[in-house]
Amino acid sequence: MTLDTSEKLTKDDKFKFSCHKGISCFNKCCSDLTLFLMPYDVIRIRKNLGMGSAEFLEKYTTCQIGDSSGLPVVFLKMNEDKTCPFVTTDGCRIYPDRPGACRLYPLARMRGTKEEYYYIVREEHCEGFEEEREWTVREWIEDQDAKIYNRMNDIFMRLLESRLKRPDRQFTDKELTMFYMACYNLDRFRKFVNETNFLEYFEVDETHINESDVELMKLGIDWIRFSLFREPTMKLRTEAQ
Ligand code: SF4
Ligand code: SF4
Repeated sequence: MTLDTSEKLTKDDKFKFSCHKGISCFNKCCSDLTLFLMPYDVIRIRKNLGMGSAEFLEKYTTCQIGDSSGLPVVFLKMNEDKTCPFVTTDGCRIYPDRPGACRLYPLARMRGTKEEYYYIVREEHCEGFEEEREWTVREWIEDQDAKIYNRMNDIFMRLLESRLKRPDRQFTDKELTMFYMACYNLDRFRKFVNETNFLEYFEVDETHINESDVELMKLGIDWIRFSLFREPTMKLRTEAQ
């Protein structure tokens, strides 16, 4: 994979690309790849598969501690032959809920503090660049229904930015477990919120988090920013009175 950093694309910039079932490289991009999963990816895929978060994480993912962040990073576990577990001869079997990175390809999104831009990702085997169809970045994002992924991933990125502001912070095993649970294992986190004294300490809209995984993910991220990085993202009940 080559990230073409010679040109920073904004949302109004154009590129030529098309991907369709008849193309000779069909499905080649769905093997021999490293696919990080963001918390929102996990929410969407496990719902698609009708699985609980723990079962999904166990069956389909691996986790390792990131070299630079020191925090858990979750990857999709590839088959032994290096193919993605979701690829079929007809394409992606979780297509409506495929990960954000699969949607954005051949673009990679970069986000600074003030600007957002995109690079083209070039894969040797990908014939899509030879096609004549032209898109603006904005049109591609809309066509691939990637807007919601960008929005949700930004919430998680704020947590990683909190980490960047405290590069010397070391984490205990307990803190790493908290991070993994609150960001990825949301069924377990929901249980934790409801069955410990969490709700006695923090002011939380219980209906919201019990009905929506996205709201629970946002709560989890706020809680980690509060607990690990001392950011004022949670309201204590004593403050509320
Ligand atoms: S390799 Fe490129 S053109 Fe071929 S199927 Fe994958 S994304 Fe589409
Ligand atoms: S999730 Fe779907 S689109 Fe992404 S690599 Fe796997 S099969 Fe391909």
